[in-house]
Amino acid sequence: MNCNQVRELISAYADGELDAEQRVAAEAHLRDCAQCSRALESLTMLKSAMQDATLSYNVPGALQKKIAALIDKAAGMPKVDTSPRRGIWKYALLAVAAGLVLAVGVASYRFIFPSEQQKIEAEAVADHEQAEYGHRLVDFASADMPAVLNHLKAKLNFEPLAPLHAPTGYTLIGGRVDRLAGHAVAVLVYKNGSQVSNIFQWPSASPPSPGTVHALKNLGVASWNGSGRTFYVVSDAGMGAANAVAALYVAEGCGTP
Ligand SMILES: [Zn+2]
Repeated sequence: MNCNQVRELISAYADGELDAEQRVAAEAHLRDCAQCSRALESLTMLKSAMQDATLSYNVPGALQKKIAALIDKAAGMPKVDTSPRRGIWKYALLAVAAGLVLAVGVASYRFIFPSEQQKIEAEAVADHEQAEYGHRLVDFASADMPAVLNHLKAKLNFEPLAPLHAPTGYTLIGGRVDRLAGHAVAVLVYKNGSQVSNIFQWPSASPPSPGTVHALKNLGVASWNGSGRTFYVVSDAGMGAANAVAALYVAEGCGTP
């Protein structure tokens, strides 16, 4: 399935209405496509927002009558029927419409204008997956950190920072130069068994900040600013692993906030 096919089926997918074959094909695409999985996330959020109890209200009878009268007047109806049942219906429709506008607004605002950090996280995750599945994790394969750092430094206009020893349980497999958030970035790549962790870094004027860690598409994503750099960790092994890698870097003075 390509993006267009997935987008056509995404609502049915979110409602669990696809047959097994379509579902498997859609899931295979969603695993590899950051844009489509973000679209699914927004849709799921929209659907759950629509079920939010705070979007419906109980209105006192007098107010219902006033609102019904105002609606009828505005619609130019000759006769005003202000029976409570009619008022409830009209108000319910108005509330649903208002709720829909609000929920669609919130969901699409977040979808169309995700925060800078959300954008970089999604991009880092997509890059991590492309590098892993495209078998181009490193352009310099070595477990010797000084040699890897020298290779990266020669290709970039800054000196990457990294602890000399790998995080517990991990082996350094090398480094690559990549692009993230519009920057040329250094990426150090570690493996723990088959699980890959990518550590992205680039010079940044952002003020030092303690890290954030969360899960995105079953991956752990950690980020922080310090030592004039921005760091992002993406780990196959989840949030705990991403956090442990980040903690080692910070403890070793690499991006200490
Ligand atoms: Zn897609």
